[in-house]
Amino acid sequence: MTPADTPFAHHLTATDGAARAGVLHTAHGTVDTPVFMPVGTAGTVKAMTADAVRATGARLILGNTYHLMLRPGAERVARLGGLHRLMDWPGPILTDSGGFQVMSLAQLRKLDADGVTFQSHLDGSKHRLTPERSVEIQHMLDATITMVLDECTPFPATEDQAASSMHLSMRWASRSKQEFVPRPGYALFGIVQGSVYPALREQSARALTEIGFDGYAVGGLAIGEGQDTTFSVLDATLPFLPEDRPRYLMGVGTPDDIIGAVQRGIDMFDCVIPTRAGRTARAYTSQGVFNLRNARFADDARPLDPACACPACTRHVRAYLHHLFRAEEMLAPMLLTWHNITYYQDLMRGLRAAIIGRRLAEHAACVRAGWAAGDTP
Ligand SMILES: [Zn+2]
Repeated sequence: MTPADTPFAHHLTATDGAARAGVLHTAHGTVDTPVFMPVGTAGTVKAMTADAVRATGARLILGNTYHLMLRPGAERVARLGGLHRLMDWPGPILTDSGGFQVMSLAQLRKLDADGVTFQSHLDGSKHRLTPERSVEIQHMLDATITMVLDECTPFPATEDQAASSMHLSMRWASRSKQEFVPRPGYALFGIVQGSVYPALREQSARALTEIGFDGYAVGGLAIGEGQDTTFSVLDATLPFLPEDRPRYLMGVGTPDDIIGAVQRGIDMFDCVIPTRAGRTARAYTSQGVFNLRNARFADDARPLDPACACPACTRHVRAYLHHLFRAEEMLAPMLLTWHNITYYQDLMRGLRAAIIGRRLAEHAACVRAGWAAGDTP
């Protein structure tokens, strides 16, 4: 079978406790899990060429429907051959539904039972997103994995607010499934909502499983509830999702969040942290987090992270990266984004190998000990 004929599937390779290592099969190639997806907001992983993203080991990236529908426009992306072609990314791409950015970026938004109307944050133009339109846009972008439109329940929310928001999202999930055009190797994921209420999360997971999706995301987390709550929501949700489908924790997180979520059985992650931090001089390393603008790096002739094989670490020293950020050179965010994404990919590879070797707990303790030890010689 060519990749294009391969059905979308997640095959488990090994488990260690609740943690899972597997392989995702898609129309655009295979992906080892657990996987971290760098965020390619507006058709680019900021400051990175596609070759550079590939060199980090990343195989699955994320695109944002909200940004792409406003600029350059979904119809235009389709006319130009789709997002894979435009980005020079033949590998799999997951697109979000646009709902989260409508709620966080758009102006004058008005939610009704059928969808959401809003004004673009770019030029004030009026747009409407419904479950059907979101799926249609993601089809035009040629997303390998399409996400259903949902309402991201604000935090905090009362149980009544969370329940009515979750029920709206479940109705929209059903409409998204109706609209989605199944193609071999392409997938539609449902999104569990229900805020911090275990009974609502269970209800939502059961409702989605009843509709039937190719994968299941856990949404509405990492929005201020705190790590302990995030983890307890995962504990209350994951037992109600089918074991043979991938599980995606949306918008999470720090390396520490990711380790804890992998230990609970999450397979897929995305977050702007490594790319955003790369543009603001924050380095994620095996020795913890550094701010490269800090004066203590001005004469530091050591590699940024001796455990990392990326160009920032193997060809340059900390003092040079510090200088580039102080001088506001374009190369600074380029090199540090490259490093941070490489760090996240290495983290995932290490977790995967540890799950296969059934030594995840020891490995996680070792990674955390590295951060705690810091970089002082
Ligand atoms: Zn590096």
